[in-house]
Amino acid sequence: MNSKRIAIVGGGAAGFFAAITAAEADPSADVVIFEKRSDCLAKVRVSGGGRCNVTHACFTPRELSLHYPRGGRVLIGLFGVFQPRDTIEWFAARGTPLKTENDGRMFPITDSSGTIVDCLMRSAREAGVQTRFNAGVASIAKRPKGEFLLTITGGGETVADRVLLATGGCGSGAQSALAESLGHALEPPAPSLFTFNIESSWLRSLSGISVEPVEASVPGTRLRERGAALITHWGLSGPVILRLSAWGARLLRERDYRFTLLVNWLPGRSADDLARELSAQREQQAARLVINSPVAPLPSRLWEALAAEAGIARDTRWAALSKSGQHRLVQQLSRSELTVSGKSVNKEEFVTCGGVALAEVNLKTMESRICPGLFFAGEFLDIDGLTGGFNFQAAWTTGWIAGKGMAAGC
Ligand SMILES: Cc1cc2nc3c(=O)[nH]c(=O)nc-3n(C[C@H](O)[C@H](O)[C@H](O)COP(=O)(O)OP(=O)(O)OC[C@H]3O[C@@H](n4cnc5c(N)ncnc54)[C@H](O)[C@@H]3O)c2cc1C
Repeated sequence: MNSKRIAIVGGGAAGFFAAITAAEADPSADVVIFEKRSDCLAKVRVSGGGRCNVTHACFTPRELSLHYPRGGRVLIGLFGVFQPRDTIEWFAARGTPLKTENDGRMFPITDSSGTIVDCLMRSAREAGVQTRFNAGVASIAKRPKGEFLLTITGGGETVADRVLLATGGCGSGAQSALAESLGHALEPPAPSLFTFNIESSWLRSLSGISVEPVEASVPGTRLRERGAALITHWGLSGPVILRLSAWGARLLRERDYRFTLLVNWLPGRSADDLARELSAQREQQAARLVINSPVAPLPSRLWEALAAEAGIARDTRWAALSKSGQHRLVQQLSRSELTVSGKSVNKEEFVTCGGVALAEVNLKTMESRICPGLFFAGEFLDIDGLTGGFNFQAAWTTGWIAGKGMAAGC
């Protein structure tokens, strides 16, 4: 019997993981990765600020799934098959141990993404996977006998029994076109994991300050997140903003990234608690300047700016703070109203949501329900996660399942 021909389109995290898994599961298979760039695993290399946040130390599928704004429900089942514990073992078995940071993020012990790239490339080589660079797949046609004919950019064709589309986020029409030409509908793309542009000069003047925790919400929606915020030259960033951007990726796009953001700088306290605290200050610190006695744990520069925004003059002493001034200060502390006028790229990590609709995929194998022999993995699927190693975990999980699926009998 002829050996099975497996074509992997895309030499990223998902493509490599699927290729290695397929080649190890069926050593007689002829597995080839087609990568349009002159190098592979480019995103792995730049990921996690050059350290590669490989996965997250969360080992309960249901809990893990809560970190995926899209695809979470489906991932509960997929994580039952291959989850972070398996990722850790997979890399350790190949001489690449991972370590866990306090917040659960996992990195190679070398703190270098190059270690992960080397591990994947070495594992692919040892499993007999071939890699073709500068070999973008321009089109895929299904032949009457069931195999696929792939046209390679710059010339050449190849025939395969199994094809994996692991071409990453479906932002460009060219990537979607391959799946669409084989009968698939794609959920429309939208950026996720971005930061907010806010024009307020008082906020921008505080660039570099981080505050934890704050609660940020978008009025009139269910978008509400709590965590650390970082004030930047162009607005707000930090985990709380990235989470809002991920959960609100579609809604915020519909609003053209123009919306009102409410920030509660002291989310542990209610407005009534704050009013009581400020009243106590008026009595106990009557002679001190308001701007010199910030409410803990607010950074003093932020406190000064919020007091100014509340219309409190710099020379106001607590004893002279009017009831209405106090009320405005409480409002600023618990409901700062900021106008978001656009988004910026989060350089640490960004992904595209949307992609191949999960209802069109057999989740036991990642094979298309529409076009037998066609498989999917990674960000090209309508799955995306928060920052913290969740996006790579989705790539490893779907890549592993697809690899096994492709290696299973023809
Ligand atoms: C700056 C940055 C940092 C990140 N850091 C992290 C992190 O630390 N942890 C984490 O979990 N996630 C991180 N992510 C997200 C993570 O990188 C992606 O979710 C992950 O790379 C998706 O893997 P993939 O294999 O599906 O797609 P990709 O990594 O995008 O790979 C797809 C590959 O397919 C190739 N390709 C596309 N079309 C074709 C074609 N027609 N023919 C041939 N080849 C083609 C592309 O050139 C590319 O090499 C980061 C993302 C960015 C942008």
